[in-house]
Amino acid sequence: MDTMSSEINTSSSPGESTGKKAREYESIHNRLFIVRIVLTLLALAVYLFSGASAQLAAGLSSRFSHPWLWSVVNGFYTLITIFGFAALMFPLSLYSDYMVERHFELSKQSLESWMGDFFKSLVFELALALIFFEVVYALLRWMPNYWWIGATLSYVLFAVVLSSIAPVVIMPLFHKFEPLQDSELTEAVQGFVQSAGLKVLGVFRWGLDEKTVTANAALAGLGRTRRIILGDTMLKGYSQDEIIAVLAHEVGHYKNRDMWRLMVVGAFLAAAGFYVAHLVLQALVLRFGFQHIGDIGSFPIFVFSLFLFSLISMPLGNFYSRRREYAADEYAVRTLKAATPLVSALEKLAAQNLADRNPAAWIEFCLHSHPSIARRVARARIVEAAVQATLRAVG
Ligand SMILES: [Zn+2]
Repeated sequence: MDTMSSEINTSSSPGESTGKKAREYESIHNRLFIVRIVLTLLALAVYLFSGASAQLAAGLSSRFSHPWLWSVVNGFYTLITIFGFAALMFPLSLYSDYMVERHFELSKQSLESWMGDFFKSLVFELALALIFFEVVYALLRWMPNYWWIGATLSYVLFAVVLSSIAPVVIMPLFHKFEPLQDSELTEAVQGFVQSAGLKVLGVFRWGLDEKTVTANAALAGLGRTRRIILGDTMLKGYSQDEIIAVLAHEVGHYKNRDMWRLMVVGAFLAAAGFYVAHLVLQALVLRFGFQHIGDIGSFPIFVFSLFLFSLISMPLGNFYSRRREYAADEYAVRTLKAATPLVSALEKLAAQNLADRNPAAWIEFCLHSHPSIARRVARARIVEAAVQATLRAVG
């Protein structure tokens, strides 16, 4: 979701017991994050060193032995491998995405409904991975020295297409969307959007309430599909001023062209990641007994290097994302000439989503795409003071 929309997710909570619960929730997720990394690395190592990956590739190649059928071999290999990995990780997904969410009373989904969503996303991910790795392995075969340039361009194309269809095709698979209809609020929202000079930007109600108690808002889509979506879980319990402040934050992302900025940063990181994978494949493929870097049997080596690179570069991407969040907050405070509506909306969101108010600085640095609530509130107050000083000087 993060690549498709810039969410307003926060980190914090007032109240001692909510604070304790939020810290527990944060710490469980951090531990699960480590578990997922270790399991992924272990699975890749076993898949490679046991020879299972090479055997699957060889078995498929002998079954589809015609030289033109290499893409069929690659396709089956990718589907079997990714499905197997998802099956292996299923208990962890069930625990972290269903049981923990239920335990903390954030999710309202039944097990059946959760499983339905899990399979929907699995099918979607399989289809996506199939197309992407078919393209990448064709490039590895046809241009073994420069495939990483082609892979980066394909990645960008994928990101643009996915961002464009996200709010009209992907997100409606999981939640209901409809144009905002609460008449009084709609007027205020349209008024704000128009005063910001964005006639074309639609505002939609995001049906989260059916499945979760958490709230969120986002700018989603690209070009003609671009829109602001507001969770119905927020529309219920928030004052009009608070909703307008959240809207102003999203408009800030739009005005600052953050979707494109994040995409450019993502493209540079992807280029670096694919180039590192290129070096790793060149260094290791022959040693593991594969003929060519385009041999699908060496897939675990490829994924291993991409995975490690994405872990190492994650703090960089998050650092940039947090800066864009501050900038969107600043836009909201400057436009509304006050910080209070944004601050109180952030406090509410944080309590509702069990976000840790003061995560350890290094955890925020490495893992969080959004700054902690305490820092966002402090910054918003500084911007407010500057705005009011200017107003006094002018007045
Ligand atoms: Zn944001």
